[in-house]
Amino acid sequence: EDLDVNAYSLDSLLSRLTSCRAELDLVNQGGNILKNKIFVLGSFNVDIVAKLERFPQVGETLHSQNYKIGAGGKGANQAYAAAKVGARVTFMTKIGKDQFSHFAKAHLASTEIDSTIIVESDTSPTGNALIYVCEQSGENMIAVYSGANIEITQEEIQQAEQHIISSSLFLTQLENNIEAIKQAMMTAHKHKVKVVLNPAPYHENTPDLLEFVDLITPNETEASLMTGIEVTDLDSAKRAAEKIKLMGVNTVVITRGAKGALLYENGNFKEVEAIKCAVTDTTGAGDAFNGALVAQIAKGETLLDAARYANAYASLAVEREGAANMPDANLIAARL
Ligand code: ATP
Repeated sequence: EDLDVNAYSLDSLLSRLTSCRAELDLVNQGGNILKNKIFVLGSFNVDIVAKLERFPQVGETLHSQNYKIGAGGKGANQAYAAAKVGARVTFMTKIGKDQFSHFAKAHLASTEIDSTIIVESDTSPTGNALIYVCEQSGENMIAVYSGANIEITQEEIQQAEQHIISSSLFLTQLENNIEAIKQAMMTAHKHKVKVVLNPAPYHENTPDLLEFVDLITPNETEASLMTGIEVTDLDSAKRAAEKIKLMGVNTVVITRGAKGALLYENGNFKEVEAIKCAVTDTTGAGDAFNGALVAQIAKGETLLDAARYANAYASLAVEREGAANMPDANLIAARL
């Protein structure tokens, strides 16, 4: 503010300066709050995991050696990971009104997720995944029942509009119904909220969403399905990233499992090598990566720094059993 200093006494000048300072602090605070705020729209599933010596034949009953019920769903896992590494996360999901809905609420309340918008379906149960894990090979067979996840409506998204537009970043996956996902993305995009899409599991309507997406994070399989280019190595990953850019998304991160991640931004490729670690269970590695990546981007980190951080976080996640078993952020520093 321009002041004619001669027209003011020292006391009144000091008092004006103090009030300017207080206003500036408020503005900065507001900026930081918004900066770190992420809205995640996504699924919640109950994972029911049975460990077996081998997979059963058709019509055969086997005794499982070990049985566990855990929280899952890409949305819930990614929201949890982002919150775990320090982002302020609002997570929106839809569950049923059944025995699993209590489990869902208790799990989400026990995480570092800042706030939840839990819509409850009168007609469909909470999503679930029945998982057989073969003890010898570590292979799995999964049957997912989407349940309430694919019943989320455009009206319900509309009711969450204020939460979406007051965030700095919007993250989603493809485990809800496409119309609702599209509506939420359009809302975020219209209000200049950065839109990040983890296109998992791949859906044939993915191309219709791309005009609203700022950053996309397919794994190799999803990148292959999106582009028709079979992604098996660095060269094919680069060609797929270029094609995805031509399809309308400016920034592409292809996660490549034990090979790390390929970044494509402003026409430049960068590689992040996976960290060598003792692999226990890679389920949910992508969720850990995506959650940590968006948390760092929302904080203002560059794509490369955010991806290095996410790569380190995902390496910690693969050392643990269970998709929703997200590591603590204080373990990351030693891996960077
Ligand atoms: P999932 O579906 O199992 O959750 P995804 O297929 O979505 O995973 P991946 O590309 O397999 O995702 O892995 C995501 C990231 O996790 C990788 O980019 C890498 O940073 C890390 N990662 C995965 N597997 C390993 C591994 N074996 N060793 C070290 N890091 C790994």
